Amino acid sequence: MLAAELRLHDVRVLVVEKETEPPSAVRIVGLHIRSLELMAMRGLLERILPHGRRRPASAYFAAIPKPAPTGLDPRYAYLLGIPQPVIERLLEVHAVELGAQVRRGRAVAAVEQDGDWVTVELADGERLRSRFLVGCDGGRSTVRKLLGVGFPGEPARTESLMGEMAVGVPPEEIAVRVAEIRETHQRFWLRPAGVGVYSVLVPAAGVSDRAEPPTLDDFKRQLRAVAGTDFGVHSPRWLSRFGDAMRLADSYRVGRVLLAGDAAHIHPPIGGQGLNLGVQDAVNLGWKLAAQVRGWAPEALLDTYQAERRPVAEDVLDNTRAQAQLLSTEPGAQAVRRLLIELMDFDEVNLHLLQKITAIGIRYDFGDGPDLLGRRLPDIDVKHGHLYGLLHRGRGLLLDRTERLTVGGWSDRVDHLADSTAALDAPGVLLRPDGHVAWIGDDQRDLDHHLTRWFGRPVH
Ligand SMILES: Cc1cc2nc3c(=O)[nH]c(=O)nc-3n(C[C@H](O)[C@H](O)[C@H](O)COP(=O)(O)OP(=O)(O)OC[C@H]3O[C@@H](n4cnc5c(N)ncnc54)[C@H](O)[C@@H]3O)c2cc1C
Repeated sequence: MLAAELRLHDVRVLVVEKETEPPSAVRIVGLHIRSLELMAMRGLLERILPHGRRRPASAYFAAIPKPAPTGLDPRYAYLLGIPQPVIERLLEVHAVELGAQVRRGRAVAAVEQDGDWVTVELADGERLRSRFLVGCDGGRSTVRKLLGVGFPGEPARTESLMGEMAVGVPPEEIAVRVAEIRETHQRFWLRPAGVGVYSVLVPAAGVSDRAEPPTLDDFKRQLRAVAGTDFGVHSPRWLSRFGDAMRLADSYRVGRVLLAGDAAHIHPPIGGQGLNLGVQDAVNLGWKLAAQVRGWAPEALLDTYQAERRPVAEDVLDNTRAQAQLLSTEPGAQAVRRLLIELMDFDEVNLHLLQKITAIGIRYDFGDGPDLLGRRLPDIDVKHGHLYGLLHRGRGLLLDRTERLTVGGWSDRVDHLADSTAALDAPGVLLRPDGHVAWIGDDQRDLDHHLTRWFGRPVH
């Protein structure tokens, strides 16, 4: 995603990936509302939708089944379940089409910075030089470790086994038993995942060696412990394990090296937020890094990446902690869960929790101003279509209901739509390339000031 964002601004990009092949564990990830919106903003949603399955916009928070709150835009009000290797492939194709280079089977082994350059040494000894490096290399990030950036947090306390396999028991029997168990065990499921295949999640509680991949026998033992039967599971497609560690990088940037995605934050997959968070980091960072490379970035623009995104990750870690508590089988936690289920009958509570998980409630701190300032603008109707259709090129946008404002010397970076009919409750708004509202008003001088703040000096 980051490679594609950079290519939109004609920055030369090389992606080095240590694995020669994509991962075999085809776990389904859920793309939430804000990620779907971002895909639409870059013209990618139509391409992605046929590969996923839409699920209702409910049961996001701690798997509490409540209908979706009212007022969501039906075009994006769902969760798109999609195999992670598929979304990764689609994003890779998109980046390559835009001109990014991808080299597989190449691992970063060492990083040095001097003056205007970063030198990366690969495991095979090749040395590469670039203006910037972004470590998108996952929770065990080599880049983060080489930078010496702290990754404090909580170590894993519980581990879960997850995999896909065939079962030897009729579906009706499974459904009844699973429903009984899930009344008290939230960290357990056995659910259809295609023809003749079930997705299985069970606590790992002390099975085998953590360093080794789990075996089918581990799954059978744990299923018997939780359900009293192993459901005759056999013929696994893939088996994996994951822990509930939570960690947040002390810093997202050291000089010319930055971190994004799991390299910057890890947390258990409750609420399915990790990949979404990383995609959103990429869209926040891409245009800022491009501005820096292309030479028009205002002072400190690049540092707003950490200032904006680290608090968002902090909030995701926190809501994940809260959800983990709500999934506990302890009587106290179960009582709090029942109370929250009651509270979620209030539409505002339901909406607040949904906004947290789907990232549509984020408001960056751009200073004092109306509530809309710093928030993402929904995909409102505009002349001849929808707003997000105007953001495919990853540029800024002045949406101007007064029809008398101008982007003047910034027109190489910012588009202008004069449209008195736009479904907007403001005379004019300036959108950043990530779709967040950077200015609201109708005064040209004030607008120029904010154009300079976000897009640097005008070209005369
Ligand atoms: C069971 C489970 C379910 C999940 N469900 C969801 C969900 O529903 N929704 C959601 O949003 N998230 C979900 N997640 C989280 C999601 O999978 C991660 O957040 C996401 O994969 C992080 O992406 P990333 O690109 O930052 O890191 P990774 O996916 O870890 O990718 C890092 C890449 O860097 C490569 N690499 C590592 N070191 C080097 C090196 N030295 N040199 C070169 N390359 C290197 C790796 O090979 C890898 O390809 C789930 C996670 C788990 C475990």
